[in-house]
Amino acid sequence: MAWPFTVVADTDDVVALFIPAGSTYKRWGTGSDGKRALVDGAWRDDVLRLMFPGCGYSIWLFWRIVDGVRGLAYYYVNMEEPFRRSEIGFDTNDHMLDIVVEADLSAWRWKDAEEFEARVTGGIYGAEFAQELRAEAETVAALIERRASPFCDGWDTWMPNPAWATPCLSEQWDTAIPVTWPRAAWAYRDTSR
Ligand SMILES: [Mg+2]
Repeated sequence: MAWPFTVVADTDDVVALFIPAGSTYKRWGTGSDGKRALVDGAWRDDVLRLMFPGCGYSIWLFWRIVDGVRGLAYYYVNMEEPFRRSEIGFDTNDHMLDIVVEADLSAWRWKDAEEFEARVTGGIYGAEFAQELRAEAETVAALIERRASPFCDGWDTWMPNPAWATPCLSEQWDTAIPVTWPRAAWAYRDTSR
């Protein structure tokens, strides 16, 4: 998939990317030939995506407007390849397992853990990689429970600059050479699947 973002922060510690509701992104759907293809979709919520150099996850903050009041709806921890910089942005790849976190950090739950384990038993993910990923996910769960950084860094009350234009995808979104994860051959037993 491909998302347009506005870069909010880009430091040694964090890359923060914002996509507002209504942005056009590329999601998996059905092309005009009836085959699975990346098609335009309308992004539904204001989302700030926090990525951390070398880390196997990003943290997404979802805001919604309820009765005219904008508020943080929830956090979403997305397990994924550590990001790489490309000529048009950032490349990563989803690793199935996620964590959904209440906006007030009072509770969290795993999401798609069974699908993740199916990829391990199905031989798509290597056992060593899966173990490493589970351990890293547990470290994020511990951060949530301790209300540690980045969950205590004030991102929950962050607001986009209203003067910002809606971000658009680069024209090279499907032609730029992807920067692949150096550990892919180790992590995935069969990358063709
Ligand atoms: Mg995911």
